[in-house]
Amino acid sequence: MKSIPVTQTSLPDFDEYINEIKDLWESKWLTNMGVKHQELEQKLTSYLDTNYISLFNNGHLALENIIAALDLTGEVITTPFTFISTTNAIVRNGLVPIFCDINKDDYTIDTQKIESLINERTSAIIPVHVYGNICNVHEIEKIAKKYDLKVIYDAAHAFGVKLNNIGIGNFGDASMFSFHSTKVFNTIEGGAVTFNDSKLENKLSIQKNFGIESQESVTYIGGNAKMNEFQAAMGLCNLRYVDNEIHKRKNIVNRYNENLKDISSVVLVKSQKNVQANYSYFPILFENGIDIRDKVFEELKFNNIFARKYFYPLTKDMECYKSEFSNVDTPIAEYVSSRILTLPLFPNLTLDEVDKICNIVVNEVKKV
Ligand SMILES: *Cc1c(COP(=O)(O)O)cnc(C)c1O
Repeated sequence: MKSIPVTQTSLPDFDEYINEIKDLWESKWLTNMGVKHQELEQKLTSYLDTNYISLFNNGHLALENIIAALDLTGEVITTPFTFISTTNAIVRNGLVPIFCDINKDDYTIDTQKIESLINERTSAIIPVHVYGNICNVHEIEKIAKKYDLKVIYDAAHAFGVKLNNIGIGNFGDASMFSFHSTKVFNTIEGGAVTFNDSKLENKLSIQKNFGIESQESVTYIGGNAKMNEFQAAMGLCNLRYVDNEIHKRKNIVNRYNENLKDISSVVLVKSQKNVQANYSYFPILFENGIDIRDKVFEELKFNNIFARKYFYPLTKDMECYKSEFSNVDTPIAEYVSSRILTLPLFPNLTLDEVDKICNIVVNEVKKV
């Protein structure tokens, strides 16, 4: 039986990529902001509809670097319902994550619970556009203004998402996108930060290149987080197809929704108002609890179909954080994390495969 992975990397035609990297054998310029890097930067500025962009060798280092560039101190309000990278990026910058709960509709930060977590040590809010569902950006902006906080969005899931026709990377002080091979758009590994303040452009480019300002002047203790030319070339190829891929994803999501909408104990994510979505994940929530979620997971696996308990456990419950940062109760995040399952979703998944997956889910749910 053919196995179905939870996701599958999008690749251009082999020849197209080879053609794209051919120049590199002539120029012998493989990294350090070469022509592919520059071209991708331009194309993404336009695609993401943003003022400024800085490319990185992965999304995680993009996030670490923008946190450092904004000179945050003390405490940062974030959520535990995310990939471990978000929390790690905060802690690796010497900051304390204060975990805010999420809301039950779209699993993003519950803006009504943010204010009670703010104190004189708070310097920023780092919310996550989980599954490409966007946070309540207007409410977050209001709170940030009132308390003079920075806002950095983890937009790793939100490539190409728009709100009222505005690219999602325009909100807050900055947004981080991931171009990892498992994401909607990939550069093999890669990532970017989008932002509005022109001063950040120079700062980020120095930071990601060891802090080197000019040949004889190092002004900052930087690391190395540059995107190389082979990554950028992959991005240039993949960008040509990403709209078509998102369209295919949409058809798959529609089929899933159609198949599962009448199962009362299975909660689906509703589409958000005025949002152009990217259909990056298909999470379903089992209202009847963790046992049924885990049973469906196992039954799918038995059929060579690989779903993911994404995000479970919560980041704050991982070994490295458990004893240290379990500072606030997040009951909704616990509830969602123990009941959520993301089903396979990638552009080449067939509708027949979707039906097969749904049949297994429905059969398992009916057993209880
Ligand atoms: C993928 C991901 C990251 C990290 O991005 P990489 O490009 O893999 O380093 C960060 N946050 C979230 C929510 C992600 O899904």
